[in-house]
Amino acid sequence: MRSNWAGNLTFSAAEVRRPATVAELRSLVAAGRRVKALGSGHSFSDIADTDGTLIDLSALPPEIDVDTAARTVRVAAGVRYAELAAHLHARGFALPNMASLPHISVGGSVATGTHGSGDANGGLATSVSAIDLVTADGGVHAMSRDADGDTFDGAVVALGALGVVTHLTLDLRPGFEIRQRVLTGLELADATADFDAITAAAYSVSLFTDWRGPRFTQVWLKQLADAPGADFPWAEPAGTKLHPVPGVDPLHCTEQHDVPGPWHERLPHFRPGFTPSNGEELQSEYLVPRAHAAAALTALDGVRDTVAPVLQICEVRTVAADRLWLSPAHGRDTVALHFTWVKDTPRVLPVLTAVEAALAPYEPRPHWGKLFTTAPAEVRARYPRMGDFLALAAATDPAGTFSNGYLDRMLHA
Ligand SMILES: Cc1cc2nc3c(=O)[nH]c(=O)nc-3n(C[C@H](O)[C@H](O)[C@H](O)COP(=O)(O)OP(=O)(O)OC[C@H]3O[C@@H](n4cnc5c(N)ncnc54)[C@H](O)[C@@H]3O)c2cc1C
Repeated sequence: MRSNWAGNLTFSAAEVRRPATVAELRSLVAAGRRVKALGSGHSFSDIADTDGTLIDLSALPPEIDVDTAARTVRVAAGVRYAELAAHLHARGFALPNMASLPHISVGGSVATGTHGSGDANGGLATSVSAIDLVTADGGVHAMSRDADGDTFDGAVVALGALGVVTHLTLDLRPGFEIRQRVLTGLELADATADFDAITAAAYSVSLFTDWRGPRFTQVWLKQLADAPGADFPWAEPAGTKLHPVPGVDPLHCTEQHDVPGPWHERLPHFRPGFTPSNGEELQSEYLVPRAHAAAALTALDGVRDTVAPVLQICEVRTVAADRLWLSPAHGRDTVALHFTWVKDTPRVLPVLTAVEAALAPYEPRPHWGKLFTTAPAEVRARYPRMGDFLALAAATDPAGTFSNGYLDRMLHA
């Protein structure tokens, strides 16, 4: 039976279908009792699971249509960011940001509120201006930012609860170049004292720590090629290319050492040519208001003896506030606290509970696609538009065709 990318979840679907046309997809949806879209399967939670029909979108035509005048692209939902980015770059366009791994599908990433880093950069879903949604009756519902306003903000990051998105239209910007530099030598005390200056020092900034001490092992600065570089008294430029996880070969990491290159070959941490078929890791992430960044990092330092034994690496990024109802950055400039764990679920789950307790005063919103143990009612309470989303989901999918165990739990338990 099919598993997710990490192999920590075997889908319980009665059948897996790979429609080759939108018409076929629509028939499958209309005929199904319970139906779930599968993007590239990179989520760690059971968000993409179903006991009904799992619809793998990877066989649909990989359409990518750039509208040069409007500066937009209409892309099939199953296309992965790596292919989309290469296509856009060849036409002189760019997306404002990318996640750490470019192999994830556009539809699946948008559905879970996936993000990269950068004080001024919203999550990937903030680029979406229109979607085509196949609803439970098999009809196609075209929605757009212009025509649907506030409701559109509820329909973009929708956890797959409203239907199957077949196409998305994304805003583009002109292509740009980035140079990436890795610094070492940052103590936690300097990070908390100077957090705003550090995250403002480049277009996209990531801080990494293994929590084996009160310090960050690496700081990755992805700077616009023509912008000045920042300097810090603590900074020691890395002498060799580094992988975020100490001791791992950096072969598959994007270019470092300030070598300028196209946006899509620098913004992700990992190169598009390297396609890991499965992962020896689990992931979690908690997004808190950036005003609490220093306090949240200090709270994590308080549980580092619990965290470190099962941690591969922790990454700290920033995300700009947005208006999307279920986006983890909804309504608040955000600091995202990510954890790559060892692949050992029984050992990791209790640690998640400890991390969640430490972060509880800062109202953490867990990443929808990663692992967490927070009570669903608590998660719901952290989204001011959750009531509106529940009403939208009930109106759009009254029979619960697109629901699954995860959504039953997260939206209703
Ligand atoms: C190595 C790695 C690195 C990662 N890096 C980042 C990162 O930098 N930032 C970050 O925020 N996250 C990151 N993630 C998490 C990842 O972005 C999310 O889990 C994302 O949802 C993966 O996309 P996917 O296509 O694999 O979605 P899937 O896991 O296939 O599906 C996720 C959800 O989206 C729904 N869905 C998928 N396609 C559609 C569609 N067309 N219409 C409607 N619903 C749909 C599914 O039903 C499911 O509910 C990373 C994950 C991995 C494994």
